[in-house]
Amino acid sequence: MSQLELLPWPALAVVLRSLQFRDVRNLSLTCAKMYNAVAELTTAEAKVIFPGPFEVPLRKPLLGLRIELGDLFLQQPPSDLSEKLENLSKQAEYKVGRIKVGGGGGDCPEQTSQAAHFLLSHHLLSSLLAVHNRNGKSLSCLDLEVDLLCFGCKTLLKDMQVGPCNNPTDVTTPWAANTSLTVRLINSNTMINSNTMTTGIVVHFLRTAFGLANLRILKVFNIPSNILEELLDDWFAPDRVYFSRLRKFQIQPADNLCSLHLLLD
Ligand SMILES: [Zn+2]
Repeated sequence: MSQLELLPWPALAVVLRSLQFRDVRNLSLTCAKMYNAVAELTTAEAKVIFPGPFEVPLRKPLLGLRIELGDLFLQQPPSDLSEKLENLSKQAEYKVGRIKVGGGGGDCPEQTSQAAHFLLSHHLLSSLLAVHNRNGKSLSCLDLEVDLLCFGCKTLLKDMQVGPCNNPTDVTTPWAANTSLTVRLINSNTMINSNTMTTGIVVHFLRTAFGLANLRILKVFNIPSNILEELLDDWFAPDRVYFSRLRKFQIQPADNLCSLHLLLD
């Protein structure tokens, strides 16, 4: 990569335009000079409010998307979204490999409602994953809200396990190698008492995540403390083989009391 360092920026910009997310990121990690050049010549992240017009800046290659919830009552033409995402994903400057969905809102009840969850985590995210898959834009980092009791989330996690060679469908997640997945557990159904999450449900979810062949880093946030304790003291205890039989892994120090960080081999 040392020759690329010597390129004048306009020439480097042309090179960046021809690369995909992973190559751009690898290039930026070669040295400080290249890191700064890539930072200057690309847009690291664009924030999108949804529902909304879903417009992102594409003057420079775009590497990441952060999607936050907007006005739930904003009327959208029904067929507009997939067409818009399809066109966006086909643009050479659209190199998005890192997506964060939701989690931007404060304590506003609307932000955590079932309607909000379905709109962001299912309607929008499914459409995004489908266009990424169709246009060969693979994902390196996904950060999303998951409700372990939600049927849509269960389906999404199951679909994520399907590799492109197994059954190429629209819902297949276009994972890059060494993917990082961040999951923020939520309870989207405010009608149900929030204590309905059990250790068994979390274990089942982790088992599903262990089945994602390309997954390397898994971070799970908002695990109830009694469940996390049971996971660490029992399910992940050194003498327990339940998870190590599935895959080699390491528990990483977590920066948050209610979170579990795993590094998978
Ligand atoms: Zn869901």
